[in-house]
Amino acid sequence: MRDGSLRRLVKATVRAIWWVELTARRRLRPPRFRLAGTCEGCGACCERPTIAVGRAIWFLPVTRRIFVAWQRYINGFVLVERIREGRALAFRCTHYDPETLLCDSYDSRPALCRDYPRLLLHQPWPELFEACTYRVVDRHGAGLSEAIDALELAPGEAVRLKERLRLDDGPPTDSS
Ligand code: SF4
Ligand code: SF4
Repeated sequence: MRDGSLRRLVKATVRAIWWVELTARRRLRPPRFRLAGTCEGCGACCERPTIAVGRAIWFLPVTRRIFVAWQRYINGFVLVERIREGRALAFRCTHYDPETLLCDSYDSRPALCRDYPRLLLHQPWPELFEACTYRVVDRHGAGLSEAIDALELAPGEAVRLKERLRLDDGPPTDSS
């Protein structure tokens, strides 16, 4: 169901606070990884929005209930699974139409939707949805990439190795 004016206002306020905090964090501690590639609109991040949460939300029932209720009533996310690996909560989004792959409240979507998958870049080893057409690239991988180039490897092996290690010579995606 499309967001009404009150929900839009609440989401805009939370988004503004989130952006301030996120911008400061990125300036102070730039992530090890950057993004390459572009969004091809596969819809995977809308089919199953997944949020990694801190210990207070994962372990404490009260804070978890508050967090899940917020996601339900403000963002329209319904909890479908708790994923132990990576301590994440997976949701179904009530704004998403799986037929058209469209969001019914795109202009008021939450910050995490706007920032996916950039928001994962601070994780130790970010994992994107399998269908996602972005790639995660190690910013500090140039030396290792050159060392691999100097090895006498079987045809294609250097490319595969670089992919596995997230080394990439391609141009960075805007602002990642
Ligand atoms: S709010 Fe919109 S952009 Fe965010 S997950 Fe749902 S459908 Fe996708
Ligand atoms: S999963 Fe990646 S490619 Fe697919 S819609 Fe989301 S950002 Fe775009």
